[in-house]
Order: sequence, then structure tokens, then C-alpha cells
Amino acid sequence: MNKKCDIIKDLLPLYAENMCSSDSRQMVAEHIAECESCRNELKKINTDVAIQADSDVSMFKRIKKRARIEKVVISIVSIVFICTAMFMTVFILSNTTNSMNYEKYNMEKYVKVEEDADGKLWLCTYDQASSYDFAYPTVWDSDGNEIGDEAFNNDEKDCYGVTLYRFRINDIFKVVVPSQEKRTPLLNTNKTNIQSVVYYDAKTGEKHTLWERG
Ligand SMILES: [Zn+2]
Repeated sequence: MNKKCDIIKDLLPLYAENMCSSDSRQMVAEHIAECESCRNELKKINTDVAIQADSDVSMFKRIKKRARIEKVVISIVSIVFICTAMFMTVFILSNTTNSMNYEKYNMEKYVKVEEDADGKLWLCTYDQASSYDFAYPTVWDSDGNEIGDEAFNNDEKDCYGVTLYRFRINDIFKVVVPSQEKRTPLLNTNKTNIQSVVYYDAKTGEKHTLWERG
């Protein structure tokens, strides 16, 4: 390897990248035409440049692919989160209740308590008042103390309260069954100590008389 080869080899990287002056370029071209060692060196450099370019492209592809995967993961997580939130909301609204407001549902007009010939009391609801999901009783003694609905106080003149509840989801979507009539026994046995039946709005605590023993 002579001194000229050293100079040419210094120039080869620039030559490979097309970055040297036209004089140097010509000098290198002339030299490699007759020097095998420098020709091989140039081949090696060209291969390295190609590999470098390839790895740049594959790195770019990797970054792009990772960005795409991140996007998909974020989308999936968001969808799962939104679905869970929606499911929880529906679940909560379907499992919590509102006591039906006396005025709002026109209870005065649409709720009646009837006593049949056997002295049994029936709860009769009409129209929008029939849209309740369940009824729940409360019993008070003559002093207004709440007593269990099974534990009627036979010596006292008890007051029987009934509350109609709607699931909140039905309240929000205003599910009503218009013109429907429901007739359910208020009490399964004849309790003569029951002196009055009231509609009890559990939310406001208000009692509205529905029936009084005549
Ligand atoms: Zn050479």
C-alpha cells in the first residue's frame, strides 16, 4: 500500500457520499480504476452506507409501528373505560330508587285504598301511579313511632303507610304505563287496629291520608 492509497482511502468516504470536489473525484476515480485495494475499500464503504440507510428506515418503521400500537392500546383502554362507566351508570340507576312524589304523580287522583266486604284493604293505583316498580310499607303507632310492618301493635291504633318506588332509570326516562290499573292487597290479614292508611313520601317525609276507618 503506497502513500497515494492512504490519501485516496481518506477521500473514499466523501467520494462514496458524493461530497468531494470534482478534482478529488476525478483523482479517486482514476486511482480506483487501477488499484484493487482501494476499489475493495470503496465497495466496503458503499455496503456500510447501504446498511446504515437500511437501519435508519427500519428504525423509522419501528417508531411508526410503536406509535400505531400505542394508539390502538389507548383506543382500547378508552373504549373499555367508557363502556365500564356507562355500565356502572346504568347499573346504579337500575338499582337505586326514588320514592314517587305525591304531587308529581297525582297520587290524590290516582291512588285509592278500598276496604272489601271482609274488611281487607286493597291498594288501587291508576294511570301514572301504576308505573311504580314496588311498594313498601311503613307502620306507625298512635304516637307516630315507626313499628315493624309485621309487628302490628294490637292495643294501639296504628297508621299504615305505603310508599311507591320507581327505579331511577325509569324516572329519568319517564317510563309510564298510562291507563293501567293495579290492584294489590295492602294487608294480607284484616287488622282492625289499622285506623288510617297514608301515602308516605320517603324522600320528603310527608304523609298524605288515603283512607280512614269510618
Ligand atoms: Zn490504492
